Amino acid sequence: MPELPEVETIARGLANRVTGDVIESVWLGQKKEPLKSPASAIAATLEHSRIVKVGRMGKHVVFDLQKSQGKKRSTSKAQWIVHLGMTGRLQVCEPQAEVAKHTHAILKLSSGRELRFVDPRRFGRLSVAQAGDFDAIGIEPLEIDLDRFLPLFRGRKTPIKSALLNQRLLRGVGNIYADESLFRAGLRPRRRAATITRDQLAKLLTAIREVLREAIALGGSSISDYVNSDGEEGFFQLQHRVYGRESEPCLVCKKPIKRIVIAGRSSHYCPNCQK
Ligand SMILES: [Zn+2]
Repeated sequence: MPELPEVETIARGLANRVTGDVIESVWLGQKKEPLKSPASAIAATLEHSRIVKVGRMGKHVVFDLQKSQGKKRSTSKAQWIVHLGMTGRLQVCEPQAEVAKHTHAILKLSSGRELRFVDPRRFGRLSVAQAGDFDAIGIEPLEIDLDRFLPLFRGRKTPIKSALLNQRLLRGVGNIYADESLFRAGLRPRRRAATITRDQLAKLLTAIREVLREAIALGGSSISDYVNSDGEEGFFQLQHRVYGRESEPCLVCKKPIKRIVIAGRSSHYCPNCQK
């Protein structure tokens, strides 16, 4: 499942390729699951729209669209929102490129290329929002400052790990990056959020930013593989310090890394370095 850094990298790659292009026509497949907005609404919104910006909100790729309409050529704004789910891919390719199995949408672009949405497991979602009013819930972890970060955890009796995964608080921090951030901040995943001091939360915010930024920087080198027509992703993985390293020695103190389950999700931590 692509996490925030992957989605950011994908959005940047797409921005380089399709910003300024106009969507000439849209083909949508028969499967209903990928369409969160009605097919007719998606087609009507996308067709003849110019892609003015591609960005990320939480784990969504968001295309800002503009269209001139009517005799007065007034411009209307809208957004195309793509959630990649588990296996969704956005490919920019030449029209003669073979259409992959599980292709659910094909956008013909004025540059002559096509933008295709492929998703074998169909957990991905396509939707549109009028007037550019799409707003994912929660706050962007890369934009939040300490003053807004601290109150998120005040009075919260849940484990800090659960609070980090709560999308209503922070947008898009997934399991891997939560574990890695907690390790760098020296906090156990089960620590009650409300018991963590201001200084420790400051350290945690720094750790979250570091981990996400490092992963985005690493992802940048492989983005062309991700959005090119073969679609095989090749993300350079952040060197995990705890995630997926159960029983392996901690990179700092050599004690074995522990794995526990919190709210159905695996959590990895060093019982010696994290308190
Ligand atoms: Zn350790």
